[in-house]
Amino acid sequence: MQANVHNLARQPAHSFTQHLERRPFRVYTARDIDQISALSRLSPAQRFDMKVVASVLPFRVNQYVIDELIDWDNVPDDPIFQLSFPQRGMLVPNHFERIAELVRRKVDKSVLDGAIDAVRSELNPHPADQMEMNMPRDAEGDRIDGIQHKYRETVLFFPSQGQTCHSYCSFCFRWAQFVGDKDLRIASSEADTLHAYLASHGEVSDLLITGGDPMVMKTRHLAAYLEPMLKPEFDHIQTLRIGTKALSFWPHRFLGADDADELIRLLERLVEAGKHVAIMAHYNHWKELDTDAARAAIRRIRSTGALIRAQGPLLAHINDDPAVWARLWRDQVRLGIVPYYMFAERDTGARAYFEVPLARAWAIYREAMQQVSGLARTARGPSMSASPGKVEIQGVSEINGEKVFVLRFIQARKPDWVQRPFFARYDPNATWLNHLEPAFGEKAWFWEDEYLALRDEKLARVFD
Ligand SMILES: *Cc1c(COP(=O)(O)O)cnc(C)c1O
Ligand code: SF4
Repeated sequence: MQANVHNLARQPAHSFTQHLERRPFRVYTARDIDQISALSRLSPAQRFDMKVVASVLPFRVNQYVIDELIDWDNVPDDPIFQLSFPQRGMLVPNHFERIAELVRRKVDKSVLDGAIDAVRSELNPHPADQMEMNMPRDAEGDRIDGIQHKYRETVLFFPSQGQTCHSYCSFCFRWAQFVGDKDLRIASSEADTLHAYLASHGEVSDLLITGGDPMVMKTRHLAAYLEPMLKPEFDHIQTLRIGTKALSFWPHRFLGADDADELIRLLERLVEAGKHVAIMAHYNHWKELDTDAARAAIRRIRSTGALIRAQGPLLAHINDDPAVWARLWRDQVRLGIVPYYMFAERDTGARAYFEVPLARAWAIYREAMQQVSGLARTARGPSMSASPGKVEIQGVSEINGEKVFVLRFIQARKPDWVQRPFFARYDPNATWLNHLEPAFGEKAWFWEDEYLALRDEKLARVFD
């Protein structure tokens, strides 16, 4: 069995790609909107709206997404079109008008840039206190850039060469990193810093390389971060996770791209050396799994012994439909992918356009779960990645005549909070944790005092 798997991985790329056309990677950004020929079917007014939105929120799309994932006969409703192209509603009307007016008047670049920065700063660029509360400090108390350590077992690393993506998602919660404001970047190019940090933190079992998308990096850069994990001082790091949307946006990264073969060998070496290697694949819609290239890339990654786990947010205009999730999870299982998380859309960027009330999110999750077999029921959610932790909506119930949300922490800043049910007053419109109130007339959440104390402690260190 084992030998079989490895023989498969050693097969040359062409055995996975022989039926696929070799494609160059071609990408378009806000500047190139008029060069995307597929957009010629839209009206000039629609293209103007796109340009206005793309001046505030990041925009980047590649030819594979345009040609193979979007059904242009179904535009603007097509889910992948909504996922990758700016829509007017992604800015609230007063933000949209403010920028549109300046663009129409052709004001100086400096005036326009100032207005764009002002709008961006109103879009909660750093949700969930990422900057202040998750960045570790060294012995001198200086912040260690590019590392987040929020949950005991798992360290997130943001390599500086991976701070972009093959395409951008219009709902991205990391959008602030892509719009060029250096203060908002949380990247590091220091492999040494990462390795020193991990070597001195024996409680960490998982390293999660994230971005942007680390798969935009050259394989040799990725190897420089990951290969040292095979040394004995990193025996405690049992799992290497790589967060990516490349399986959706550019599956050729794993097939015929320049250093795809080296990447496959790297994954294989890490697996052979005894690490659990997990590709944390971001998926929003089954259409992303529905191309020959996507399926060939999945097969090739699986042939290395790496596991693919799937996660992604629930979004209005894209996947707020139980049938879409049921098919997504079913197709994933069929292809050997493990469904992992369904997230609630975070409170940042274009959230007003994409958000789904928590009550509705739970109903969608439940209806989708009812349609799939046990092997597809490994997806937890809907889950909010909030500052205290990942809070899952377990359900809606009625207790002593009061309608409540039943909640639990899947992951928490304090391991002791994990898996204890707690209750919020039911609110059909709430879309995030901060809209919820404790049920039964209680003044505070069971974890609140400890959370506030932790926060004070971390913030005190920031301002020392
Ligand atoms: C989700 C998440 C992780 C990983 O948590 P697991 O439950 O181990 O998948 C790590 N760090 C942060 C900040 C996260 O949001
Ligand atoms: S792939 Fe991930 S990081 Fe990149 S734009 Fe999409 S959500 Fe953001």
